[in-house]
Amino acid sequence: MEALLSDTGIVIVGDKVYYGGKVYDGRLDTNLGGRLTDCCESFSTIDDPEFGLYCKSCYKEVNWGEGDGSEVLNAKFKIDEKTNMATEAYIEKIPSWTRLYVAGSKKF
Ligand SMILES: [Zn+2]
Repeated sequence: MEALLSDTGIVIVGDKVYYGGKVYDGRLDTNLGGRLTDCCESFSTIDDPEFGLYCKSCYKEVNWGEGDGSEVLNAKFKIDEKTNMATEAYIEKIPSWTRLYVAGSKKF
């Protein structure tokens, strides 16, 4: 899997989208654009103010927004129909949607 870096800082590798030091889900059939846990790039337990939020992969306590579906990357994605994975991401930039980065198996 090849990843490309750019000045804009958004990178798509496989089914993950990296932006702003965080990782987001790039799969259409799950939680497109939803932030994943910092530790394992995984989902977390359901929000419960009493018990906290835990990573489903390593069971470490994580911050709100990590893997619980409450924090979503404000972007539009172009999805590969065969894999259901994001191949391009567009982040809103007034006045229009601007393509910031493309990555994957080939260079653009
Ligand atoms: Zn974890």
